[in-house]
Amino acid sequence: MTAEHRRSPLEPTISRQGAGHWSAARQGRLALQRCDDCSSYIFYPSFICDQCLSEHLSWTAVEGRGAVESFTTVYRSFAEEFAPYVPYTVALVKLREGVNLLSWLVDVDPDSVEIGMEVEVFFERISDEISLHRFRPATKV
Ligand SMILES: [Zn+2]
Repeated sequence: MTAEHRRSPLEPTISRQGAGHWSAARQGRLALQRCDDCSSYIFYPSFICDQCLSEHLSWTAVEGRGAVESFTTVYRSFAEEFAPYVPYTVALVKLREGVNLLSWLVDVDPDSVEIGMEVEVFFERISDEISLHRFRPATKV
């Protein structure tokens, strides 16, 4: 594969399992798969429930709020596509639904990020197909 055919890492390929996520993201909503039989949330996208092995899964919109479980700040880009964004913070966010999700954490100084910080999702439109979830400090409700 040559560089000119290389798809930007900011434009992930939409898999059949993940299509529901990307469809919701285009509409500015975070969706997770949920088992119709045992009600477990499933992440990463799958064809079966990892708790009861049911094949009856539905995409369900979730609130998109959670807390920082862990994070790191990238000061040196590992790929040229990310060079314009350094420094950026990547966080493991534990959603209120119990699912851990990796995302960029924005709108906060890297030195101010803390474990347990409350965060909320928003979407950055990359193309007609792709809107990427990002998290930022939560507004009080
Ligand atoms: Zn299940």
